[in-house]
Amino acid sequence: MEWKGIKGTVLKDVPMKRYTSMRVGGPARLLLYPADRYDLAAMIGHMRDTGIPYRFLGNGTNVIVSDEGIKEALVRITKMNRLHFTKTAGGSIAEVGGGYSLKRFINECARRGLAGLEKLYWIPGSVGGGIRMNAGSFGQSISDTLTGVDIINEKGEIIERQINKEEFGYRASPVGRRDCVISARFRLRTGDAAQLQKDMDYVYSERKKNHPMEYPSAGSVFKGVGGRAAWWFVEEAGLRGYRIGDACVSEKHTNFIVNLGHARARDIAALIGKIKEEVFARLGVRLEEEVELWGFNG
Ligand SMILES: Cc1cc2nc3c(=O)[nH]c(=O)nc-3n(C[C@H](O)[C@H](O)[C@H](O)COP(=O)(O)OP(=O)(O)OC[C@H]3O[C@@H](n4cnc5c(N)ncnc54)[C@H](O)[C@@H]3O)c2cc1C
Repeated sequence: MEWKGIKGTVLKDVPMKRYTSMRVGGPARLLLYPADRYDLAAMIGHMRDTGIPYRFLGNGTNVIVSDEGIKEALVRITKMNRLHFTKTAGGSIAEVGGGYSLKRFINECARRGLAGLEKLYWIPGSVGGGIRMNAGSFGQSISDTLTGVDIINEKGEIIERQINKEEFGYRASPVGRRDCVISARFRLRTGDAAQLQKDMDYVYSERKKNHPMEYPSAGSVFKGVGGRAAWWFVEEAGLRGYRIGDACVSEKHTNFIVNLGHARARDIAALIGKIKEEVFARLGVRLEEEVELWGFNG
């Protein structure tokens, strides 16, 4: 296959266990790293013309790829990682690339004494993945301070969008599956750098205490239901520590499935199915996945 005029990198048959935090998953047929936004537009055009389906992969911290792999090409925009601050009355506007690490971005904001994202500290994704998922923690969501995004759509058009907060919901955003968030603007207010660091230290220590950070995982597996956190339902269904192969409901936090070492994606998918079944049978509640399962339906 020809990738004429493409400046970025094109890799073939790349095992996804290396690119996802769950550390499972077979090969992606193609893994693409566009050099810049115009290169990405060209790649999208090429895939559209040649009928190659594709998805965007951030840091792979919210996806589980099947053992058989995935037929779509995966596009990673790690090279779109610029960060720029513009002072405003009462704070700054941060313009950040979609491929930038969320954790690093929050550190950079705190260092400059800019508040508004500190409670999302240590969410291990990228800025683009965080916006698509409307990542949140400790009562703060990424959409709270987001004012605009630049998106490349499936036609390869670059669109600058203002953000209407109403369009975001709990782990839901208006970013479509074919849209790539290439950069984002956040309105951050002036705060106290030392206090922000304290807030972030607190967030980190709470995470360390409550999350099984010592094992590979994809974070929370299910969405909460009716204002109640999903871990409660899994706990009530008696599934703490329940295990299929090396896939295990964490003892520390029952909405996490951890990989104890050699879990396969099919073990994790089977465990997700088991949890849904048991929670429905015992509590009459249908849990819905927060994680995305890729490549499981052919
Ligand atoms: C230990 C751990 C703790 C976690 N804690 C939290 C938490 O507290 N709160 C929380 O909300 N989440 C949490 N997560 C889940 C995860 O980190 C977030 O959902 C994160 O925002 C995903 O970002 P990512 O870059 O890894 O996206 P990926 O997992 O790579 O992708 C997720 C989705 O975003 C899409 N996507 C990725 N990049 C882009 C882009 N540039 N443009 C458009 N779409 C894109 C993908 O196609 C996919 O649909 C946790 C995960 C782990 C492993």
